Amino acid sequence: MLGIVWDEKFKEISFSHPMIRDISKERIRRFIEIARRKLHFVEIKPEKATVYDLLKIHDEKYIKKLEEVSKIPYIGFLDSGDTIHYPGMFDDILLVLGASITAIKYSKFIEKIFIPLGGFHHALREKAMGFCPINDVAFSALTLLEKGERIAIIDIDAHHGNGLQEYLYDKPILKINIFAYDGKFFPGTGKIEERGIGEGKGLNYNVQLPLYSGDDVFEEALRILEIIPDFNPTYIIVVAGVDGHKDDGLKSLNLTCNSYNLLGLKVKRIAHKSKIIGYGGGGYGKMSSECMVSFLLGLEGKKEEIETRTSSDKEKIEKVKNEVNLFLQGFS
Ligand SMILES: [Zn+2]
Repeated sequence: MLGIVWDEKFKEISFSHPMIRDISKERIRRFIEIARRKLHFVEIKPEKATVYDLLKIHDEKYIKKLEEVSKIPYIGFLDSGDTIHYPGMFDDILLVLGASITAIKYSKFIEKIFIPLGGFHHALREKAMGFCPINDVAFSALTLLEKGERIAIIDIDAHHGNGLQEYLYDKPILKINIFAYDGKFFPGTGKIEERGIGEGKGLNYNVQLPLYSGDDVFEEALRILEIIPDFNPTYIIVVAGVDGHKDDGLKSLNLTCNSYNLLGLKVKRIAHKSKIIGYGGGGYGKMSSECMVSFLLGLEGKKEEIETRTSSDKEKIEKVKNEVNLFLQGFS
């Protein structure tokens, strides 16, 4: 069964830069519309988190700041120019975090749960970053870890999940990041050699994709997911950011919705008995909502091809193939 954590308020929430804030809200509105048409799911209403929950992932000083800026009667920036604050934002933050709490609770009864407005993988303990005021994914991972669960995270997005990596670098959680990388593209982090430390040693995987790749390169990268069954997770958390789509405002990976459908199909295949909690991640283009639904159709085992597959040059394919092979051979 598939559950989607949904509140009508999600249609009005976006922490993105004012230039793309409307696109970002529109994506969530269209998502639920298309999802209701094409998918069978149960709607789960999120509870509201508390400040106590926020303390698990953020500094007290930063939480105070979030509360304060939420009282300012105009829009401003929480960081150097990406993530905004706006009047009443703190309430929205608690609702967004609450979605993860609800997903964890319901995951006892529902094996696949999706949070469309979530996956804020850039936020750090003491600051906002890249449209992310809080790190809801780190919250879920740390909460499940405390409960004694065995967790694998697949973080797919045009951008490296720097915040998530930092939170979980020394934790016994398998982390796979697939993202666009050229050393400069935001956030510029995610070196292949970063394999984790302490209890997390050897469990951090950064798969870098060349900018302007295509569906074929992405498919090559997904071979890395083969390592998940050996880890034997009880939970798989997927950040299924769709901002690598070719028509996305933050142009980067030249993918089509087919790639996100394939991601869903592969996750379903490797999940066996693992519970799945999925997040919508980034997406700022006209096909973002369709790609999110394509991913969920894949999770249900349904193949969908609504666009013509994109392809890359041989060099890009070879680069990613070698990278994945290196990981599969046990590079540490
Ligand atoms: Zn992104």
